Amino acid sequence: MINIMKGTKDLLPQESYKWDKIESEIREVARLFNLKKIATPTFEHTELFLRGVGDTTDIVNKEMYTFEDKGGRSVTLKPEGTAGVVRSFIENGLSQLPMPLKMYYETPVFRYERPQAGRLREHHQFGVEIYGADSPEQDVEVMMIARSLFARLGITSPELHINSIGCPTCRKGYNEALKKYFASKEEELCPTCRERLQKNALRILDCKEEKCALIAANAPSVLDYLCEDCRTHHEGVKNLLDKAEIPYSVDDRIVRGLDYYTKTVFEFVVTDIGAKSTVCGGGRYNNLVEQIGGKPCPAVGFGMGIERLVLTMAAVGASFGEVPSPDLFLANIGAADEAFLLTQKLRAQGINAECDTMRRSLKAQMKLADKLAAKYTAVIGESELQQGKLKVKQMSDGSEEEVALSSLVNYINQKKKA
Ligand code: ATP
Ligand code: MG
Repeated sequence: MINIMKGTKDLLPQESYKWDKIESEIREVARLFNLKKIATPTFEHTELFLRGVGDTTDIVNKEMYTFEDKGGRSVTLKPEGTAGVVRSFIENGLSQLPMPLKMYYETPVFRYERPQAGRLREHHQFGVEIYGADSPEQDVEVMMIARSLFARLGITSPELHINSIGCPTCRKGYNEALKKYFASKEEELCPTCRERLQKNALRILDCKEEKCALIAANAPSVLDYLCEDCRTHHEGVKNLLDKAEIPYSVDDRIVRGLDYYTKTVFEFVVTDIGAKSTVCGGGRYNNLVEQIGGKPCPAVGFGMGIERLVLTMAAVGASFGEVPSPDLFLANIGAADEAFLLTQKLRAQGINAECDTMRRSLKAQMKLADKLAAKYTAVIGESELQQGKLKVKQMSDGSEEEVALSSLVNYINQKKKA
């Protein structure tokens, strides 16, 4: 027996309708907000993520699935969705399209993490990427997209936390202040954070170790170091959120686990799935396109974990919609071929029809219809074929009606509408 790999999950047929529900709501939100789908490959040159995600992040340092392919290239399975989109944006000259360019993706994401509930080595993200606009309203619209999806999925609880982590200009001063502060507590920091102190002190704020988090709680606030431009932007975001009556709190400890953010960062946090859990994280990354080799272009977006969405929906008792089931199960007595052919005809006319393809007895066929939760059943045999009509049984109440074969489609359609 070969088992599934640690930290990965199968999507099983009896569960997949839950994902279908989420994906169909994603498509609806994309339609409402004019987002166009983009899909990029599952693997890219490792260099893309080193440059994009940043070589002082946990993702790059500890979590990437990197290997050499048979041609000797260093390849990495995507550890997040943005870098590939930026690469594609540059490579395909997408800056020629009308701006802002509003896109979304659904992608598997690979990170070598310690697996636990809601933390997998392969998970899936719905992400939004909007290029070209540098305004606070673009940040707020991105947050509204996430909120709209939550609402459509019956998740009313997520708290929005926002922050600004400034731009390289204001971060210089902030970094120095952080370094000075953490240097005075160096002994108490975890070994990784002592390293971070040398390379990128901002990362210490993102440490999950309790003792580091306690020390970080009293560190200087980035908000006291914002330059004029970043402060105005941050105020603009807050004002617009207020006007839109979107509740939020400012949390100056949010830095996010990727190096590319500038100005706005945000998270949607739920408490329904155990400890506080981030279902969605995002922000602005105005320097990333240039960093990866394109002409400067502002951008903002988020990534949302689909597995955590499913967990949250289950925890709050949200509806995943109806479990799909056949409209009509067409059983047969000695007329397997006729039932089979009629089933195909019904399907061609838009009826979700099902029949037996395992040569079961009539009793076993009816049992199957029941297990499949067919809404209607009918039995077809010699006499039904001769008379051109059959008895259609409504499974919810057991009532039966005689229906001509020629009007079977109409009958089912009318019943569905009623
Ligand atoms: P966390 O703080 O929980 O590690 P993160 O900051 O690494 O999250 P992002 O990189 O912003 O998360 O990814 C966006 C979203 O993807 C997260 O908000 C979460 O819903 C989901 N996600 C991230 N890592 C995992 C994982 N290992 N397993 C399942 N979902 C994940
Ligand atoms: Mg993480």
